[in-house]
Amino acid sequence: MIPQNVHKTKLQRLRVAIRGAVQGVGFRPFVFHLADEMHLAGWVNNSPQGVNIEAEGQPEELQAFLLRLEKEKPAHSFIQSLEPSWLDPVGYKNFEIRQSELSGKKAALVLPDIATCGECVRELFDAGNRRYRYPFINCTHCGPRFSIILNLPYDRTNTTMGRFRMCARCLQEYGDPSDRRFHAQPNACPNCGPQIYLWDDKGRMLADKEEALNQAVASIRSGKIVALKGIGGFQLLTDARNAEAVRRLRQRKHREGKPFALMYPNLDEARRDCAVSPLEERLLVSSEAPIVLLERLGTAAADDAIAPRNPYLGVMLPYSPLHHLIMADLQAPVVATSGNLSDEPICIDEQEALERLRGIADVWLVHDRPIARHVDDSVGRVLMDRELVIRRARGYAPLPVTLQEETPPLLSVGAHLKNSIAMATGKEVFISQHIGDLETAAALDAFQRVISDFETLYQAVPETVACDMHPQYLSSQFARRLGQPVVEVQHHYAHALSCMTENELTAPVLAVSWDGTGYGLDGTIWGGEFLRIDENGFERFSHLRAFALPGGEKAVKEPRRTAMGLLYEIFGEKMFAMDLAPLKGLDQEKRSILNTMLRNGVNSPRTSSAGRLFDAIASLAGLRQEVSFEGQAAMELEFAAAKIHTGESYPVRKSEDGIDWEPMVRAILEELALEATVNEIAAKFHNTLVEAIVQVAHDCGLEKVILSGGCFQNRRLSERAVLRLRREGFHPYWHQRIPPNDGGIALGQVMAVVRSKMGVAAQCV
Ligand code: ZN
Ligand code: ZN
Ligand code: FE
Repeated sequence: MIPQNVHKTKLQRLRVAIRGAVQGVGFRPFVFHLADEMHLAGWVNNSPQGVNIEAEGQPEELQAFLLRLEKEKPAHSFIQSLEPSWLDPVGYKNFEIRQSELSGKKAALVLPDIATCGECVRELFDAGNRRYRYPFINCTHCGPRFSIILNLPYDRTNTTMGRFRMCARCLQEYGDPSDRRFHAQPNACPNCGPQIYLWDDKGRMLADKEEALNQAVASIRSGKIVALKGIGGFQLLTDARNAEAVRRLRQRKHREGKPFALMYPNLDEARRDCAVSPLEERLLVSSEAPIVLLERLGTAAADDAIAPRNPYLGVMLPYSPLHHLIMADLQAPVVATSGNLSDEPICIDEQEALERLRGIADVWLVHDRPIARHVDDSVGRVLMDRELVIRRARGYAPLPVTLQEETPPLLSVGAHLKNSIAMATGKEVFISQHIGDLETAAALDAFQRVISDFETLYQAVPETVACDMHPQYLSSQFARRLGQPVVEVQHHYAHALSCMTENELTAPVLAVSWDGTGYGLDGTIWGGEFLRIDENGFERFSHLRAFALPGGEKAVKEPRRTAMGLLYEIFGEKMFAMDLAPLKGLDQEKRSILNTMLRNGVNSPRTSSAGRLFDAIASLAGLRQEVSFEGQAAMELEFAAAKIHTGESYPVRKSEDGIDWEPMVRAILEELALEATVNEIAAKFHNTLVEAIVQVAHDCGLEKVILSGGCFQNRRLSERAVLRLRREGFHPYWHQRIPPNDGGIALGQVMAVVRSKMGVAAQCV
């Protein structure tokens, strides 16, 4: 039924959008010769913001091309941002330099913050340079942007550097077209620019300048916790090799099990603890400089308290001069986690940081350059030889996604967890930095600030506002209060549209939209959805069989409740007599409460959530009964499967209630009785879900299958689904630049409105 065409799946198109000093330096001829030498077809052109490249070839060749682009670029060029996307081939015959794009309406572009360039790092450590060891060195190629801009146009007076008057020497560089600092808005030197200070917990100055740095480094060495005012907000730093210090940080920050990110002094040090592939190396040293999830080596010296039970470490390299100075002095990795309490937005102001981080940090390393807005560290990983941005913030925000069509000004407010918002104007959709979970007053405040911020920056008055269908999401309630026309977009449809957009797909497609929670069209909680998307909207083609979540939100924190909900569907109250991991240690009173809840359906919402199914199986297998952060049980189930290479799976059944997990659960119970290992069960569970996807794909009969939603952050699930779908003749797509989790919802909401303006119902058919 589905044509098998090996060539079609092998040949790929790589698009690279490069921003920076890439015009008038021979960049296009360089790209042309490189592509020609490598026998790639496609084109290169100048755009208002930089250079765009499309190249077609075999994936391995394109990967080599991508790496060589940066390594061999012309001497006077500089890359401030590089975003690769992998798309379907269109059949280019040769390589050409195309006419420059003369885009009609040019939206003012705000650049993200750019990691310190090699030239500035060299000067930073050159004893003869006038900026030797100056923590705010930067140039036109690097330094803060988004985190210092107050208003457009991007002039010094419109940034938080406006308060610093350049000295004669800085002013001369700034005005000299031949200088690397010509019109570098944050240009500064030790004589005229910002300075650092070390404070105690009362805000009393302990030291300044070099002495502040020395004492901060000494504090880290002695196991203290340093609150560092960085680029987009405060970070908490402590010695990663000091298990006691790491545990203290966990305790004080109320962060039990969630992994901490690490900053290594350099790539070589990172390699001692982690495996780093060429593509991962590219990402680590890129101008975006995100946290990259790397597989840790068995010999990793990092303490287990950093990322408990986790085979990956989140690693970044120094990206600001201040980080370079600290890490060069320390020569050892530090935990570098966001300066906040649990999941609140990070602090950006030193007085605020003093209040909110009191009791967590021991000393505060601050400076007098204000931060205009919070921008967290971004998180990415390499999945199936492609980059996957999991958290879009520093280095990426607020770069736009470009659409095929113009849209009227439009605001979308995202979902509830991992919130980000988007503003569409013209052909561009500007996606905000990661805001976080809208659970606290502080987060909601940040959310509203980002929206008014975007309205100011892009001078857009939205005509329509898009939000999630969930009646209780604070973001949706906010949208309705604005008094503009509101379009409510179903959560999993938004996930699917974001994935379709970045892969430039047209309907029809089958979307596998799997996550923890989303409000469904029927008022129940969805999360294991198969949506058939066509020109007319979408249809819920299939879904996982629903089950009850006794306690609702409480079940998210306690996977054992989810497991009981699942078992109750099969066995009813007989379940309570079974000798199973979720029931262990549960007293009679709790059993009877849960029984009543399940029997009467009280406070037990029904869900088809794939994320919750992961939780339930993790609980059944005895892996984890309670979690300290969302997704913890599912992650551990993924990691448990990693060691097992099997193609075996459990049976699934199609029923009126959807894809039925009952035969699988029964098989798992039998295997548990035979003392199968958690690892085997975890591996077969992943395989089973993949086989369910393949089965539905066959039923649906569409060639294009997209994988979206938080569940597809799971490497095992994603890789196997792609492999199996390809083998069965389907064409799978997944996320690259836009997070598969709820961080991508805002873009999907925009697309739902764009589609509805084109005559497609925004919600359903
Ligand atoms: Zn520089
Ligand atoms: Zn100066
Ligand atoms: Fe979601």
